[in-house]
Amino acid sequence: MFEIGKEIMAIESHPQGKFKKGDVFTLLGMKQCNCKCKDLVLDIGLLRDFNSYICRTCGNKYNDNVREFYFSAKRFVPIDDICISELTEVLEKEVFSV
Ligand SMILES: [Zn+2]
Repeated sequence: MFEIGKEIMAIESHPQGKFKKGDVFTLLGMKQCNCKCKDLVLDIGLLRDFNSYICRTCGNKYNDNVREFYFSAKRFVPIDDICISELTEVLEKEVFSV
């Protein structure tokens, strides 16, 4: 479970280079994105300078006017939830799923 204030780790690199696989952040906030699929998105303390997004889950474009840069929860795992062997499994799954 994602919990605000806990540490999370990126399990894939962001396509525009905002973070890399293995980077650790403190989760500052989360919400459903403005996309119609209502995917869970996470605030990791980055700000954005645009308001148009492409949804990580369904590929649709959507707009969001908040200053915080929210990223798909699918790019992260909560560190508390996993031990190292499970993390390795997660990373391997991520590599082989498209
Ligand atoms: Zn979507």
